[in-house]
Formats: sequence, C-alpha cells, structure tokens
Amino acid sequence: MSDNLHHGPLYRDTPLILSVSGVNKAFDGFKAIDDLNFYLEEGELRTVIGPNGAGKSTFMDIITGCTRPDSGSVTLHANDGHDVNLVKLKEFEINRLGIGRKFQTPSVYKSHTVYDNLVLSLNRARGVLKTFFYKETAEDRECIMEVLKTIRLESRVHDLAGMLSHGQKQWLEIGMLLAQGPRILLIDEPAAGMSDEETERTGELLLGLEKKHSLIVIEHDMEFIRQIARKVTVLHQGHVLKEGTFDRVQSDPAVVEVYLGRQGKKDTNK
Ligand code: ADP
Ligand code: MG
Repeated sequence: MSDNLHHGPLYRDTPLILSVSGVNKAFDGFKAIDDLNFYLEEGELRTVIGPNGAGKSTFMDIITGCTRPDSGSVTLHANDGHDVNLVKLKEFEINRLGIGRKFQTPSVYKSHTVYDNLVLSLNRARGVLKTFFYKETAEDRECIMEVLKTIRLESRVHDLAGMLSHGQKQWLEIGMLLAQGPRILLIDEPAAGMSDEETERTGELLLGLEKKHSLIVIEHDMEFIRQIARKVTVLHQGHVLKEGTFDRVQSDPAVVEVYLGRQGKKDTNK
C-alpha cells in the first residue's frame, strides 16, 4: 500500500476532528494552495513542515478563517456529532468553535502579571460584559493554576509578563490559548528564536498536550520536529508531498529534494 495514500474518513478507528479537502487558493493567479487534502484525528499532534513558500501559513489562515479558499471544504467535526463547514464562517466564529491559533511572535500583555494575562484570556471567550463584571470563581482559579503548571510558569505567576524571557513569553501565550479550552490548537513555529533548552522544554510542553487537545504545529527546526514528531505532513507548492513518520519522511527522496536537500546545501555554504 502506498504510504502517500490520503486516508479519508472511511478508513480510520480514531474519529476525525478536522477535514480539509480539495482546497485551492490563488493569489493573483499564483496557486499558494493546490488541491490540499488534510485529515486530523481527535487528540492528534501533527507536525507540518515544508520549504519557505510551501503554503504552511496560508494553510493555517484558511483553517482559522483569516483567508477564504477559492474552492474546497474545511470541516470541523464537532463532538456532538455535527459537522461544521468553516469556510463560510468569520475568524471569531471559528475561534469560538474551539480553534485557537498561536502566531509566531508572542503578544502577551506586558504590563499585566502572568496570572492576569491568563484571566484576561479566559474571559476573552466570554464577551465584554462578563469581563467587566468579572468575579473569579474557584473553578476559574483551578483552571488557571492547571495551565500555569502545564506551561511551567508557577514560580512567575505574580511577575509582569514583560519580565519573562522570550521562551517564557511563548509558553505564556500557549497558556493563554489553553485557558480558552480549545479543541484544536494551531501553532506556528513555536521554537523560533528560542535557546536549545527552551526549545526542548517547548517540545515537552506540546507533547503533554497531545490527546487532551488536537494540535497542528508548523516548524522549521528539524531537531525540534524530531523530538515531537508523530505523523509528519510535508507541504510543497501548496500540496501534500508526503505524510508519515519522521524517519520515513526524512529519508524520502522527494522530500530530501525539495526540503532537506535544500537545507543541506544551505548548511554547506556556511
Ligand atoms: P510558508 O508559510 O510555507 O512559507 P506561505 O503560506 O506564507 O508559505 O506562502 C505561500 C505562497 O503564497 C508564497 O509564495 C507567498 O508569497 C504567497 N502568498 C501568501 N499570502 C499571500 C498574499 N496575501 N498575497 C499574495 N501572495 C501570498
Ligand atoms: Mg509561514
């Protein structure tokens, strides 16, 4: 059996949470996304790699409603058994359905404490009025303490977010997403600009979220991918070039040609 087969909904044991099928998106005639098919299982941690311009960010933009595809479908399989077509929805509506996105640069509230950043985020999902009249419940506090533990910032809880290191700010932002209780987390290059130690801790953090959430992680750092890889999707020219384990993908001649090969060349030029 070809390992390039796109496993459609008919062939799986674990339920799907997200189906992207036959999606196309062109910018001024240039096909950034070209007949893209992508299926994410409930609780899965998926990594997406690919050279610059492969369409990775556009892919996330389409899922989050930031960009509307020209054709194809994006379906969220809700836990009550209903399917929701995301293509017609606005960004905030998609976010409310439980799809959270973390952009590359952290955008925490620097003059608020770590704790307050999490409270603000918890409330963002609830609307302005509720935030205005907010009274912390024991349940909220428990949720925040749980998030703090996950992102390992318990000891920094009363510090201003602006005082955190770059890596810690990234973790806080992941925590802010978690406080909203998302079903799917989309994370774009979480290890960018981090030290080796921070990168490794980020990997542990993401691995700890598997099963509780479904995750799509875009990343360039191959060591980091190796650390967290389960199923890896390689994008090239807006299309899935290959899908499989890290070892399988890494040793695939077509992948080496378009992605790793290019990196290798860059390295020898140094
Ligand atoms: P990646 O994240 O994999 O580096 P992108 O999704 O950012 O790739 O981009 C894919 C291709 O689509 C690139 O060639 C990029 O120049 C183009 N592209 C992305 N967004 C736009 C846009 N808003 N307008 C025009 N071209 C775009
Ligand atoms: Mg990108």
